[in-house]
Amino acid sequence: MKARTLWLVKDSDKVINWCNCSEPVAGRFPQADCPWCGCGWLLSCAFCRKCFTFGRFEWFDESVESLARRLATAARGPRVDDEDVAEMAEFMTWAAEGFAAGDRVVVIDYQLFRVDEEGPFEFAGAYAHHTLDALPQVRELTEPGTLDATLGNPDYWVERELPDE
Ligand SMILES: [Zn+2]
Ligand SMILES: [Zn+2]
Repeated sequence: MKARTLWLVKDSDKVINWCNCSEPVAGRFPQADCPWCGCGWLLSCAFCRKCFTFGRFEWFDESVESLARRLATAARGPRVDDEDVAEMAEFMTWAAEGFAAGDRVVVIDYQLFRVDEEGPFEFAGAYAHHTLDALPQVRELTEPGTLDATLGNPDYWVERELPDE
């Protein structure tokens, strides 16, 4: 049986896109301590590290180890080691769980959501607790300014921040 791996490519240039790679493939979620800047609600390209909004799961004709090595090498360059590759493969397997080829997704606070999923969305992410009627990235398509008022606003996150454990 040929090894195949389900993983994320860029679906479109809509809303925010800074990646112009010919084969844009998502890397690890870029989220840091400033999720409002976009790192908490954008995907990023493993090759150029620039962000984009909409991803799509596709089959790659290679094993998860092989794809993880390519993506980890793109991220870390010649310093990449087996541990980096193993961590990337683990992350990819975790993130793809429950999704199918063709699923279009956005990320919010380290969780992926299908763009056609019906709200409301209530969940605790890595940083905050969210209650959203709709996915702000999707609503932005028809109501520009939605992101500035929600995920792009530091107050949105700080008001909903999870208590320290
Ligand atoms: Zn940030
Ligand atoms: Zn790129």
